[in-house]
Amino acid sequence: MSIADNIASVRGRIADAAKRAGTAPEGITLIAVTKTVDSSAVREAIAAGITDIGENYVQDAAKKFDEIGREVRWHMIGHLQKNKVRQAAPVFDVIQSVDSLALAEEIGKRAEAEVLIEVNISGEESKFGVSPEEALPLCERVASVPGITLAGLMGIGPLSADEGSVRKSFARLRSLWEKLPAENRVFLSMGMTGDFETAIEEGSNMVRVGTAIFGPRRY
Ligand SMILES: *Cc1c(COP(=O)(O)O)cnc(C)c1O
Repeated sequence: MSIADNIASVRGRIADAAKRAGTAPEGITLIAVTKTVDSSAVREAIAAGITDIGENYVQDAAKKFDEIGREVRWHMIGHLQKNKVRQAAPVFDVIQSVDSLALAEEIGKRAEAEVLIEVNISGEESKFGVSPEEALPLCERVASVPGITLAGLMGIGPLSADEGSVRKSFARLRSLWEKLPAENRVFLSMGMTGDFETAIEEGSNMVRVGTAIFGPRRY
């Protein structure tokens, strides 16, 4: 299977899940996650219609951005340290991993950026993201930071869990998202290779897919 075949298959599965959810598949953004993937594979994905790229590491993204540029939208989906914001700001259109006011303020100083608040919906200790209880108060504060446009929420489902608890985590993120003011309720970013169909059924409008497009990662 080529990258283009994989993308067609993922798009088919997105369309089926959207149908089950009663939403239009065109309203769901597919982000191709390209960590550890080289630029030629990224280009193949773009040739197959991918418009949004997700990266976890600032340095890797900056290198690919230099080669590919603004023909796609760049999403930061990995943990972002404050001291990397200066390097990240010129690359990323959307920073999905904001989990503190201090980080949002640092981003606001450097760039006009769209940000999502990352919420820890799995309860797994190793994960980044703000707790569900703290999410809405943080959203309110981030939304008023100059230079920042708050555009929604991002979450990572529990890794080794049964479908029921994955679904519950996604439903929880969706219910938080629905409490945001309309202007901040643009993207609900949830769902990866193993769970994007469940995420769409629970209201996701932005899925982040790596393995199902590019194959297993080789570090
Ligand atoms: C790596 C990663 C993905 C993609 O994971 P796959 O399981 O390969 O689809 C999505 N979101 C985040 C935050 C990631 O780090």
